[in-house]
Amino acid sequence: MTIAIVGGGPGGLALARVLHVNGIDAVVYERDHSRQARGQGGMLDIHADTGQRALREAGLIDGFHAIARGEGQDMRLLEPDGTLLVQEDTPDDAPLARPEVDRADLRNLLLDSLPDHTVRWGHALDHVEDGVLHFADGSTATYDLLVGADGAASRVRPLLTDARPAHAGQHAVELCIPDADRTHPDLAAMVGRGNFWVLGNGKTLAAQRNGDGRVRVYAVFYNTPEDWFTTSGIPLDDPAATRAWLVEEFADWHPDFLALIAACDDTVQTRSISTLPVGLTWEPRPDVTLLGDAAHLMPPVGEGANMALLDGALLGLALAAHPDDIPTAIKDYEREMFDRTSTAARMSARIHEMLCAPDASRRMLTFFRRE
Ligand SMILES: Cc1cc2nc3c(=O)[nH]c(=O)nc-3n(C[C@H](O)[C@H](O)[C@H](O)COP(=O)(O)OP(=O)(O)OC[C@H]3O[C@@H](n4cnc5c(N)ncnc54)[C@H](O)[C@@H]3O)c2cc1C
Repeated sequence: MTIAIVGGGPGGLALARVLHVNGIDAVVYERDHSRQARGQGGMLDIHADTGQRALREAGLIDGFHAIARGEGQDMRLLEPDGTLLVQEDTPDDAPLARPEVDRADLRNLLLDSLPDHTVRWGHALDHVEDGVLHFADGSTATYDLLVGADGAASRVRPLLTDARPAHAGQHAVELCIPDADRTHPDLAAMVGRGNFWVLGNGKTLAAQRNGDGRVRVYAVFYNTPEDWFTTSGIPLDDPAATRAWLVEEFADWHPDFLALIAACDDTVQTRSISTLPVGLTWEPRPDVTLLGDAAHLMPPVGEGANMALLDGALLGLALAAHPDDIPTAIKDYEREMFDRTSTAARMSARIHEMLCAPDASRRMLTFFRRE
């Protein structure tokens, strides 16, 4: 049986690892040319009942605890005028309910747990035709089971559904303060050890402490048209001008928040957020399935990677339970996955709606008090 997993993100790698633990081989075709080819981005909060459950099934929970940052659970929520609404500081002995982990550390943990040659780097899937994978470099491969773990713009998804991601009215500009404790100790102290959120009318300024001492800063704009990066006038080709533009955009916010933007270096990344329809399903096929963002892309409010990890682990367990009956394994996996991830997508959509609202900070305050 040849299991081809397209995509070596958290979901695809969790699947490969759980299969390996259960004595089943798989091949992961990954577009990146190496594990260092691309920065993996910031932090992920990994939840006890989903992402951590997956890592336990993968036999990696101890390794995870070694790289998890419990203090990253700290959270500060503020209003644009500087009013502090919520401050949660994590006691040293607090349970690791939602610790933060650097994306790169998590990916390395998963990659290091796989036999050599499981991941075939530099294999960008172009299309699938008559049961054959065609890669961008002209090479091909066959499979008995194909798993699309290739994220938002999945090339496998069209085999199962016509659904496409739609723009969610959100754009983010990601900036960075390297070595923040040394270079900007006052701002580092303001951000604290975890997540720092300032929620305004249609805009958010967020900052996040990373394990390597950098602070990532996100300027997020809501209710934006799809072409906002080209129509807003933001001069993305010039980092200094981008910072100046953002400072102007947030000019009526507390000066300390503007200082966060001004302190960033020239690293600028952009994100245009899209989502799949909540509750997306498809008719099962005996030889193809999807997991993670390829199956249920949702607003980035803390569920996506957790769901992807658990999808991968549970699909691996379903295949291990039915090694000679892939169609049954797929049906069992998809039934549970559709149900679980539609609940998470509905909740994520509700939080996204709150963040888009003019009174986002008050709504989120009420939400946190109820949680
Ligand atoms: C700004 C931001 C912040 C987020 N924060 C959080 C958070 O705190 N917590 C959380 O749970 N989630 C978070 N998410 C969501 C999370 O990043 C995703 O849900 C998660 O990464 C999905 O994992 P995945 O394995 O399905 O896909 P991905 O992580 O997208 O991995 C897909 C992999 O497939 C590869 N690939 C893509 N196309 C091809 C191709 N054609 N051929 C071969 N390989 C291909 C890619 O290179 C990649 O390695 C955030 C998302 C964003 C945008």
